Amino acid sequence: MPEISLSVDDALARIVASFQPLGPENVPLDESLGRVLAEEVVAATDLPPFPSSSMDGYAVQSADVAKASRKTSVRLKVVGEIVAGGRREQWLGSGQAIRIMTGAPLAEGADAVVPIEMTTEPGPMAGLPLPEYIDIVEQVSKGEYTRKEGQDVRAGASVFSAGRRLRPQDIGMLAALGIAEPRVHKQPRVAVLSIGDELLDASEELVPGKIRDANGRALLAACRTTGAIPLLLGIAPDDPEELAGLLDRGVDQDAHLILTSGGLSMGAYDFVRTVVEQNGHLEFWRVKMRPGKPLAFGAYRGVPIIALPGNPVSALVTYEVFVRPALAHLGGRDQASRLRLLVRTEEEIVSDGRLSYLRARIRWHDGEFRTQLTGSQDSGVLMSLVTADALVIVPEGVTHMQAGEELEAWLIGLPQSAL
Ligand code: AMP
Ligand code: MG
Repeated sequence: MPEISLSVDDALARIVASFQPLGPENVPLDESLGRVLAEEVVAATDLPPFPSSSMDGYAVQSADVAKASRKTSVRLKVVGEIVAGGRREQWLGSGQAIRIMTGAPLAEGADAVVPIEMTTEPGPMAGLPLPEYIDIVEQVSKGEYTRKEGQDVRAGASVFSAGRRLRPQDIGMLAALGIAEPRVHKQPRVAVLSIGDELLDASEELVPGKIRDANGRALLAACRTTGAIPLLLGIAPDDPEELAGLLDRGVDQDAHLILTSGGLSMGAYDFVRTVVEQNGHLEFWRVKMRPGKPLAFGAYRGVPIIALPGNPVSALVTYEVFVRPALAHLGGRDQASRLRLLVRTEEEIVSDGRLSYLRARIRWHDGEFRTQLTGSQDSGVLMSLVTADALVIVPEGVTHMQAGEELEAWLIGLPQSAL
């Protein structure tokens, strides 16, 4: 069994390098939120596709209204109307105006729009018949209150690169571009297993000596925020055969990754390492960090397995550090996108010299982010992770930070985390 204790960077690099991004599939736009584009998206058309009005008002020739003012209005003859969704059939000549709605194609011959607010009839037009004349009381310059074709996106422009995780605004853009079924990476399937004789399901009554399984459900939810499909394997007792039986189920369900928690320490009944070695191989099982020193990576019957420590905080922090980037890579994301903040600690921080991920709250104060730890950093205290909105990182070798010093923070628990 490999005994070495790896640095976080080495361990992460080895885990990530062992995954190849999954292949592509097309999905309806409505199901594409949080999915990762598998190919570059190039605009096939200009957006907007035609020159249009950006206001409700009158299409004009700007030269006609160059001298318009509140004192000396300019009267134009109204020769027609173009509605949103309509077509620009009429030619606009000098001295003329065409009533036009926001988003309607700009009349040919017109080079500007006078908003209704700049006429002597500034109220809403709903229900009003087309007037014969309109009096303009402010000048507009060439192009004003119009949108040029392609001012948003030019045909042929690269709009998204492959690897983009789709957000609502991205989906809006794909819809506008006419991409109804974007090509995205398949989602990683992750089998989640909790290990321990003491564990009960959330729905069960407590009995002496037992606790409820917090990790299974927490990791399942974490997988969802990472864009993976979790498969809940349930709870395995501290028994090598039953443990292997449940891991087999993960393999049978075509998991791309098996994620376990617990059963990984030095106890007499910690069997994960043995079971993995008997049915595959272990690459490493210790990482220099706090919390979460035991962390095993290997393959079980050919399926990659990451065994996380049992303490709920350790399980979730090691998820953030290792599993989220690994799943992001497997799911086709580029790696450089975790959202990081520079924060200033409001209190002294003492550490033990290991690279440490501490639970903290962040607030915006006096033009900068300030941070305070949320309480006990014991890895058995889940409440201080519940009240945290970030992990702040104390580098290796640092044992003491004074109030006012700056450190790196990761926001955690966002429904659509940046990674
Ligand atoms: P282990 O790694 O099995 O030694 O577990 C370390 C600690 O985490 C023990 O106190 C366990 O009871 C606890 N633990 C392990 N798995 C879970 C779980 N799924 N939910 C809550 N606590 C757990
Ligand atoms: Mg245990």
